[in-house]
Amino acid sequence: MKILALNCGSSSVKYQLYDTANNKLIAKGGIERIGFVGTFIIHYARYQKHRLECECADHKDAINLVFKFLTDEEFGVIKDLKEIDAVGHRIVHGGEFFNKSVLIDDNVIKAIDNLSSLAPLHNPPNLSGIMAMKSLLPNVVQIAVFDTAFHQTMPETAYMYAIPMKWYEKYGVRKYGFHGTSHLYVTRRAAVMLNKDIKDTNFISLHIGNGVSVTACKGGKSIDTSMGFTPLDGAVMGTRCGSIDPAVPLFMMDKEGFTSEEVNTILNKRSGVLGITGRYTDRRDIVRVAGEGDKACQLAMDIEAYRLKKLIGEYYAILGRLDGIIFTAGVGENSPVARQLVCNGLEHFGIVLDNDKNNNLTGENIISKDDSTVKVLLIPTNEEIVIIEDVAAILSGTYDNDDFKYSFEK
Ligand code: ADP
Repeated sequence: MKILALNCGSSSVKYQLYDTANNKLIAKGGIERIGFVGTFIIHYARYQKHRLECECADHKDAINLVFKFLTDEEFGVIKDLKEIDAVGHRIVHGGEFFNKSVLIDDNVIKAIDNLSSLAPLHNPPNLSGIMAMKSLLPNVVQIAVFDTAFHQTMPETAYMYAIPMKWYEKYGVRKYGFHGTSHLYVTRRAAVMLNKDIKDTNFISLHIGNGVSVTACKGGKSIDTSMGFTPLDGAVMGTRCGSIDPAVPLFMMDKEGFTSEEVNTILNKRSGVLGITGRYTDRRDIVRVAGEGDKACQLAMDIEAYRLKKLIGEYYAILGRLDGIIFTAGVGENSPVARQLVCNGLEHFGIVLDNDKNNNLTGENIISKDDSTVKVLLIPTNEEIVIIEDVAAILSGTYDNDDFKYSFEK
């Protein structure tokens, strides 16, 4: 079966085509700057990379272009679009309606549209992708995989805020959490690596990329997570502030006359490590410049690590017992310095990093000392494989079975 995974952002479309017959990624790529000048596509297939400047007014144009590349005589991987059996869409916000992946029908489309007020930057382009696919390949099955779904198992005590109850009842103001597909993948892989049944595991997963979120998982289910009503909450990120005193934006609106939209932009796009350093979001730059003695970069690294450490403490407290902490995503997977800063001083929790392993191992590995009671795991995330397997399982009718397991859990 050939399944296309699509991730439609406001001005981008990322895609991957999988062949489930041999569990192989056969093509992937992305189109950027859709609707602007300078649109381009990068397409990887047959061990080659192709880059082409193009024109795309909207998502429909972009998906059409993806189709052209997939079926191209020279660098395509399929002869006919009919070979695509199904499409899995990454959808950011599923609100309280979706606690798992679903087949897209008119009701699901309506629900995703209604949830746009909770994710105005994400759900509308996600929906454009669905509508574009519907008009281009009307007979192909489409499935929605939600970033929030994994966190729908959080108890009320974790997801409710201490604000007027009416805000929740009228507008759905509560914690939703994001990066769910990534947390699902790494916690299940961690269970396999530690040779444990997922139902008997307690993990804290740290997804540290541009966006950063930490999740407490008990028995493979999310019981709390650091992002909240929006992805702005929690840990310090590349450009997002994470948790701050909620009075700060109000104070700054008074002082500088900012509108809510301006404050929103500043907290989302000009804060985080970018706000602290004034220059950098890429942690590679920050590590390098801190090494040259730059105080602001060192401070950014220290604050980011300090806040992650505190989240580990919080989640250790609610989990009671901890089998492992998991590092994943761009920084978590690639930065030994960042991992060391987070783990330093957590030895009293039984978290003892092995510096040699931390500095030298890459890919899926256990990087704690052999006698560390809490294991430290390095696990490259793979959100696409979850999307592909959800689609395949829904199509084969195995998804809703209690004993459903992903291929990467075996
Ligand atoms: P996104 O949230 O955009 O999906 P990624 O998970 O790809 O992000 O992570 C992007 C971040 O990973 C960037 O800030 C980048 O600097 C960081 N990163 C990648 N490689 C390294 C590295 N070797 N050392 C430190 N940071 C790294």
